[in-house]
Amino acid sequence: MMMTTTSTTPTCKKDITIVNNYINGEILPPSSNHYLDVQDPSDSSVIGRVALSELVDVDQAVRAAHAAFPSWSSMTTKARAGIMLSFHSLIKSHARELASLIVMENGKNITEALADVAKGNETVEYACSLPQLMQGRIDAVSTDVTCRDRRDPLGVVVSIVPFNFPFMVPHWTLPIALVTGNTVVLKPSEKVPLTMFRVVELFEMAGFPKGVINLVNGTRDAVTGLIDHPLVRAVTFVGSSPVAKSVSDRCRALDKRCTALGGAKNHLIALPDCDVESTASDVVVSYAGCAGQRCMAASVLLIVGDDRPGGGAHQESLLRRVIEKASEIQRGMEPGKMGPVIDAQSLDKIVGYIEQAEREGAEILLDGRSWMTSGANGTKKDAGEGDVRGNWIGPTIILHHDRSDQAMNEEVFGPVLSVYRVGSWQEAIDIENSNPYGNAAAIYTTNGGHAEWFVRRVRASMLGINVGIPVPREPFSFGGLYGTKSKYGDMDITGDGAIEFFTNRIKITSKWPAPCVPEYVTGLAKQQ
Ligand code: NAD
Repeated sequence: MMMTTTSTTPTCKKDITIVNNYINGEILPPSSNHYLDVQDPSDSSVIGRVALSELVDVDQAVRAAHAAFPSWSSMTTKARAGIMLSFHSLIKSHARELASLIVMENGKNITEALADVAKGNETVEYACSLPQLMQGRIDAVSTDVTCRDRRDPLGVVVSIVPFNFPFMVPHWTLPIALVTGNTVVLKPSEKVPLTMFRVVELFEMAGFPKGVINLVNGTRDAVTGLIDHPLVRAVTFVGSSPVAKSVSDRCRALDKRCTALGGAKNHLIALPDCDVESTASDVVVSYAGCAGQRCMAASVLLIVGDDRPGGGAHQESLLRRVIEKASEIQRGMEPGKMGPVIDAQSLDKIVGYIEQAEREGAEILLDGRSWMTSGANGTKKDAGEGDVRGNWIGPTIILHHDRSDQAMNEEVFGPVLSVYRVGSWQEAIDIENSNPYGNAAAIYTTNGGHAEWFVRRVRASMLGINVGIPVPREPFSFGGLYGTKSKYGDMDITGDGAIEFFTNRIKITSKWPAPCVPEYVTGLAKQQ
């Protein structure tokens, strides 16, 4: 039986991929034989049907990963990294093909899709150096006593990922989990399952043994089944805050290791001394890139003025340049253009925030809702058609006069920038630090001392100075601030934090008496 849960009327125009599970090296249909439609967000056409897995499928995948663990974990780290190195080359040579799948199922433009693949492959590259990076230590701790440690893998680990980076986010977890010696069950987003379904073929070509990597498709039932499975040792989750919290709570109740990254509300703070041209360009790239569907995207721009005569002039020139640059963005999947948002529900949510802001007295300085009246390929929609094809919304800029407006405080996850004028540095910090998220923030200034003042006070864990998307690359680790809605659970998801997450440190303390070798063996007696 096929199932759809889509609210718009989907059309079928392309080949439809049936996305099944990948368990122990075999492509298997879900036991229920239930599937969900996958749509191309640019025109709402059906491009695939993804398996809706149930407990029996989950159990099969976890058992396959568990069975593969003893031999995979007993290989040397170097041997595992060698297979990962072959995978790295395969990703490079298949980057265009993977990027095309990302464009089709996620709606990124081709440049963004290629970046999705390239950034994910950087973590693969990092994992190839783990033989050096995860070496144990040894030291003399007392007379005749040494202590050494080694890192042991945990066992079966589960990775649950969101829709917005179909390649990169799964590769925040897979490479490091695998090279450290774990076996994995991945649950891709049901909205974008095609990319990883193709990637498993590359895993096979690279030489990963059967059962080391398994794919279980589905939604909530698959996720809870995976977390609850007694053979699963650890869970990584990336997605929205409410689900991140529930995943983390569930893992905690079962004493499982978990890192769960949630949503974000990232603030950019522009000081009066910022360079207007480069700041405006960076702000627009940060908030409108990937149609605003990045957890690192800017969503609030705080423009700081001062009380001196003319102290607000730069505020106006910066705002004008941001609006001008954002207005130049065109719709489409070609380089430099902006694609649609993921689905009709997401579009409705974004439009809801814009309407709410209008009701709250905010000014809509740039209104992306104009894109919604166009049909597929930008053609004018037939007035009587009643069904807008594709989930298009253009760059939008809202000027708020009240900092408690909803769009200024909640995650919109679309190409919408909230702008608010502030009178002092402290007010900017107060607004940033009082929001419940703690993913990223950036400061724009031409003065290093001013930048330092901010980075010492801002309550977020990935900070930029004149960089609007401050993603820390390996070996630095990626993750929001613990104790905020951006991160639940213990550790970061990439870099050296991930080595810690995916291993247990085993410490061995040994005592051997001082060498007591007879002189007839050493030959010392003869010399005397
Ligand atoms: P989502 O939370 O809806 O889904 C994420 C995953 O959880 C999917 O695999 C989905 O199938 C599963 N899921 C959904 N509802 C569930 C439930 N009730 N119980 C169990 N599992 C469930 O997120 P999304 O819409 O796919 O992705 C967008 C969100 O992800 C945004 O909030 C964004 O900020 C966040 N995100 C965060 C980061 C980060 O590093 N902090 C990175 C990327 C995306």
